[in-house]
Amino acid sequence: MNIIHFNNWFENLKDTDYLIIAGPCSAESYEQVLQTAQQLSRLKQVKVFRAGIWKPRTNPNNFEGVGEIGLQWLKEVKQQTGLLTTTEVANARHVELALKSEAVDILWLGARTVTNPFSVQEVANALKGVDIPVMVKNPLHPDLKLWLGAIERIYKAGINKIAAIHRGFFPFNSSKLRNIPKWEIPINLKTLYPQLPIINDPSHIAGDVYYINEIAQKALDLNFNGLMIEVHINPKEALSDAKQQLTPEQFEQLLNQLKFRSHDFGQDFLDQLEAYRHQIDSIDFQILELLAQRFEIVKKIGQYKNQHNIPIFQLKRWKQIISTRKKFAKKLGLSDKFIENFINFIHQESIDIQTKINNNGTNKKIFSKQSNS
Ligand code: PEP
Ligand code: MN
Repeated sequence: MNIIHFNNWFENLKDTDYLIIAGPCSAESYEQVLQTAQQLSRLKQVKVFRAGIWKPRTNPNNFEGVGEIGLQWLKEVKQQTGLLTTTEVANARHVELALKSEAVDILWLGARTVTNPFSVQEVANALKGVDIPVMVKNPLHPDLKLWLGAIERIYKAGINKIAAIHRGFFPFNSSKLRNIPKWEIPINLKTLYPQLPIINDPSHIAGDVYYINEIAQKALDLNFNGLMIEVHINPKEALSDAKQQLTPEQFEQLLNQLKFRSHDFGQDFLDQLEAYRHQIDSIDFQILELLAQRFEIVKKIGQYKNQHNIPIFQLKRWKQIISTRKKFAKKLGLSDKFIENFINFIHQESIDIQTKINNNGTNKKIFSKQSNS
């Protein structure tokens, strides 16, 4: 992993713990952009106004954005409201126009662009020698390396004011959400690059206003650094993403309802937390010791079965394990699903251990691997 030194540009933008970005999915008309921005500028938490002017749509017959004229409207937003502005760029021409207009304070790369390294590189090349913050959305599919690769391409172009935007991943199975969050991916990204701000985009994860608050709250609880939320003066008439856009009133209601967690901990709080964590540490080590003891017995059983030429998997025993453990777990107030997964996981390891014992010396490869040439 390459070392990246992110500039702490982000800290200067926000006066609370979180950066809030809001605005319509697409800029559609002068009135729609300015009216939405005016409403948002009344909310003290909102620092940045978003609006897409070049829209990457799945179907070519859909509205693909107003293009260059939208830059003039964003400039008006800056002048009339004092909000910072951000828009999506997907190629060198977009970058060039956005920079020339002086209407855009922050650029962002969309999920479809990040999926294609050629496009990311084109944008990165257009950014050489320029000092502007860039936000990089996650790619459409859950590939952390691809997301990191895009961030690295932008960084190598000389941009060190970077943030990541988590907007969820294409669901291959049916899902209530438009995109599945797979929270572990942004968490892994944060673990690799603690200095990199990560913003959550609950609008594109939800796909419907109904789910936005639960996703936004989860992001705050997971210590994300900000939110980017789609807000439209009249969502019903929106030309893109109508179902997921909030009215300014709904957005205000959301901001009032969300619990913005504090990053400013007192010493008493830290002492108590430390005490709880000690307890957790001690329990975890006990669990590990017990698991090691369990697997020692599993090995003995494996050898015993092998000596008596008995198959490893015994359906009756397995059913009994699952049902007795679930019953006991229920009494302890543990979740059914968790216990089923946990026991399955342990059982799989037990089978692997016993398979190794069985295979020892008996399951030598008898065919050689075919080369691809
Ligand atoms: C958007 O922000 O409106 C957008 C097109 O997002 P994404 O690239 O995440 O689909
Ligand atoms: Mn959108």
